[in-house]
Amino acid sequence: MNIILLGAPGAGKGTQAAVLAEHYNIPTISTGNIIREALRTGTEMGKKAKSYMDAGQLVPDDVVIGIVKDRLSQDDCKNGFILDGFPRTIPQAEALDKMGVNIEYVVDIEVSDERIINRLSGRRVCQDCGRPYHLVNLKPKTEGICDACGGTLVQRKDDHIDTIKNRLEIYHKETEPLVDYYKKQGKLSVVQGSDSVEDTMADMMKVFEA
Ligand code: AMP
Repeated sequence: MNIILLGAPGAGKGTQAAVLAEHYNIPTISTGNIIREALRTGTEMGKKAKSYMDAGQLVPDDVVIGIVKDRLSQDDCKNGFILDGFPRTIPQAEALDKMGVNIEYVVDIEVSDERIINRLSGRRVCQDCGRPYHLVNLKPKTEGICDACGGTLVQRKDDHIDTIKNRLEIYHKETEPLVDYYKKQGKLSVVQGSDSVEDTMADMMKVFEA
């Protein structure tokens, strides 16, 4: 089962991907998490990506395409995968098509800009495993601690208000055209992401189990 989750930053892709990954026993490939990890460990790629990421801009296509190509060639992707945060531009989607992987489902999670701003400014993530939480809507069992791995929850640099607005602008310009791209390929489903995590997941399961 090869799945792409589309949607603005903060639409809930990471949260839904974590639940789906567990349910179907397939890995999530989050380009954002891979880049943050590279940044943390100080690799060349991490150094290249840092200024883009901190400013809420997209990392150049060739860098991200390389990351995904490598990751998809690993053994654990053989039975399927969930792409979270890739592709984000038309050239990235075209590169993915050229890799010869058969994407079966593309799910666009729709959320209004207003709600995105509220969500991202209250978002906290685990600094170890990247799992997302929210100060109000999705609290961990113990304040400041990740339920999944016990890591410390932190605010991402790019979740500050000015950077959020920048990321949303880029989303509308660069990433939203992918909705049409996949509609034309007959792969697109749309779910509402404004409700609870559970409601969105229920709608998503209807797509996969139809
Ligand atoms: P995310 O965690 O998905 O919100 O990604 C955080 C940041 O990583 C983005 O704002 C970009 O700077 C970078 N990034 C992640 N995925 C991509 C992608 N597919 N294309 C370009 N930049 C990306």
